[in-house]
Amino acid sequence: MARRRRIYEGKAKVMFEGPEPGTLVQYFKDDATAFNNQKKGTITGKGVLNNRISEFLMLRLAEIGIPTHFVRRLNMREQLVREVEIIPVEVVIRNIVAGSLAKRFALAEGTPLPRSIVEYYYKSDELGDPLVSEEHITAFGWATPQDIDDILALALRINDFLLGLFLGVGLKLVDFKLEFGRLYEESGEMRLVLADEISPDNCRLWDTKTNEKLDKDRFRRDLGGVEEAYQEVARRLGILLEGGPNDLKAPESIQ
Ligand code: ADP
Ligand code: UDP
Repeated sequence: MARRRRIYEGKAKVMFEGPEPGTLVQYFKDDATAFNNQKKGTITGKGVLNNRISEFLMLRLAEIGIPTHFVRRLNMREQLVREVEIIPVEVVIRNIVAGSLAKRFALAEGTPLPRSIVEYYYKSDELGDPLVSEEHITAFGWATPQDIDDILALALRINDFLLGLFLGVGLKLVDFKLEFGRLYEESGEMRLVLADEISPDNCRLWDTKTNEKLDKDRFRRDLGGVEEAYQEVARRLGILLEGGPNDLKAPESIQ
């Protein structure tokens, strides 16, 4: 088979040229990084699990009308996506105080927020992804005011839906990060779509009963049981590969 052209290698994924123009193959690695690349490691099987978890969540979101880059899963570690022009802004949605928000305002982790908070960070490894306001985003031309309105509305809808989905399997969606991109249709029309991935790499997920962390914080904070945590999320969503790659069960409901 001809070698595929590698478009970009990031910290957690490799993007290859896709089989048709306008598509990319997103390859999920086991590599994990934290604290802006200062901490590096591997989480065995993470790529396989994130590929499945992200596929599952993108498909559920598409069902409620959220436009996404996802086309189809190709194999254990790869999925086909539409190539988009990534908006260089990380959109973080928070429901419960944790991580950098706890630090910034000296708040106790685990405090529920009176309402969901959406924050924007400029996507730049060199600058350590600084927190930015809408003013920065529009003044520097990263996105238009209309894009921001659309992104905010999408982010809140995604949050509402995922909060319920995770609650149904006994998980609190504490916070998570989204990326959006511009997709140009053949008609020349531009659409904003959800891109990148949604997985325990970019969500905080806590068990509803015990508050046990089932996400990348286990790696960031050396809590151990990292692989098991990712597996548990997949298991609860009903997508753990118990009987082989075609073993797709319905989500398990936890009262
Ligand atoms: P990072 O770049 O932060 O190290 P990854 O290792 O996850 O992150 O690399 C994936 C890269 O691909 C990210 O920079 C992300 O913005 C980009 N990306 C995600 N989805 C798409 C897409 N559909 N089209 C183009 N680029 C994408
Ligand atoms: N996040 C991410 N990529 C980043 C920064 C944050 O996916 O570069 C996610 C992170 O997993 C968490 C949420 O965004 O679910 C909020 O992260 P926070 O600002 O608290 O930063 P952290 O303390 O994780 O660095």
